[in-house]
Amino acid sequence: MTVLTKQLRENLLCNHPSHKQPNQYCWKPKKPPFGGNTCVTLAAHDIVDWADAIIANAATLHAPPDREEWWALEAKYRPTERRANAKGAGQSGGLAPNYIFAGGFDPSQLFGAQVSRAEPERGISNPSPIRHFPPEEYNLTGLHAYLSWMKNEFVEDEYLELYQRLSQEKIGIDIFKSVSGSKDARNDLVQELKHDLKIKAGMARRLVDKFLDWHSSLA
Ligand SMILES: [Zn+2]
Repeated sequence: MTVLTKQLRENLLCNHPSHKQPNQYCWKPKKPPFGGNTCVTLAAHDIVDWADAIIANAATLHAPPDREEWWALEAKYRPTERRANAKGAGQSGGLAPNYIFAGGFDPSQLFGAQVSRAEPERGISNPSPIRHFPPEEYNLTGLHAYLSWMKNEFVEDEYLELYQRLSQEKIGIDIFKSVSGSKDARNDLVQELKHDLKIKAGMARRLVDKFLDWHSSLA
């Protein structure tokens, strides 16, 4: 109906991987124990109710009406309620400051789909194409190891001094590897290193040409 309802729907639109259907409308209470990680899935009439309450100054785009129906709805999704049901009433004393994590805490809600997608891939013995270095280390420890090796190979400290420049530009060891099989690609990379990163011609050439020697030297 109104622009307001449209805006509210846009704010609430949720595609959390836990939802069986895409495009759910979820309210994610920020206060503990929700911490913005819990989807309180809303029905169409809830959204209308919320929008009406905004017009009546009883709610905002970010906070639903402060009314009993909404408290009840929120309580249904409350992480501590689930824990109490699961573990019985016998909670030990204290203020339970850790209950956000002890309760229905689900890391996948915190990190979105990343955890569930990345972990299995790594589990299925799918070794990194570059020995000893997982992809997230290509521009970091991998690059550093290669430059250290170059420094020793040519007794030239300047190789290690290139680390920051290369790492910042994300020129990781995968880049050197990717051009190792083609002379044209190697030449292109040498040009790039020279002109874009202002690396001395001879060093650029050696960095590109020596990669396989280093790679095969890794046990
Ligand atoms: Zn959701």
